[in-house]
Amino acid sequence: MDDIYTYTSFTTSNCYVLTPDVNDGISYVIDLPPDLGDVLNYINSKNFTIGGALLTHGHFDHSLGMSAFDGSIYINLDDEQLARNPEEQLKGFSGLNLNPSKYEGDLISVDNLNNDIKVHSNPGHTKGSTSFEFPNMGVVFTGDFVFKDGIGRTDLYSGNTSEMINSLNSVFTMFPNDYLVYPGHGDKDTVKSIKNNNLLVREYLND
Ligand SMILES: [Zn+2]
Repeated sequence: MDDIYTYTSFTTSNCYVLTPDVNDGISYVIDLPPDLGDVLNYINSKNFTIGGALLTHGHFDHSLGMSAFDGSIYINLDDEQLARNPEEQLKGFSGLNLNPSKYEGDLISVDNLNNDIKVHSNPGHTKGSTSFEFPNMGVVFTGDFVFKDGIGRTDLYSGNTSEMINSLNSVFTMFPNDYLVYPGHGDKDTVKSIKNNNLLVREYLND
C-alpha cells in the first residue's frame, strides 16, 4: 500500500511525502518549503525512512527547506544556482519573514534517480522545471508546470513561454488520462480533467 501526505506551506506551495510501499517505508519528499517541521514530524511519526528529496524546481517556496533537510536532494542542475541563491528570488517578497541562508551542500542531478521514478524535464516556468512520475502508482508531481486551474508563470528568471508551450505539448500530453496530478500549488486533479477544464492548458495544446 502506498501513502501520500500533503503539506501546504504558508508560502502556498505544496510539499508531498510519497511512500510507494508503507511496508518498506522509504519516503520521497517532493519539494522542500521553508517550513518543513510538520513534514519531518510526519515521517518520524510513521517511522518512515527518507529516500531523498525531489525538487520540482529551484524557487524558494519549493527549495528553501534544503538547509533543514537531512538526506539526498535531487534537482535538475539547470535550477541549481537558483536554489542556492534565494536572496535574489526574495527581493520582490519583502513581506515574507524568511531567513534565506544559502545552501552549501551537494545537490544530485535528477538523472541519478532510480528507474521506478520517471523524470521529465519540462522547462518554461524555470529552465530546470521537472515533473516526477511514479508509474506504478499512476501519479505525477508537476511542481509549477501545470496546476488544476492554470500553469506556472513564465515571466520570472529563466522562464520562457515558448518552452512552456512546448513542454505542455511534449510532456504533459504524455501522461495517461487517469493519472492524478499533484501540483506545486492548489488541489490535485486527473490529467483528463485538466485537459478538459484547464483553460490555459486547452489554449496551449495543439489539436
Ligand atoms: Zn515556482
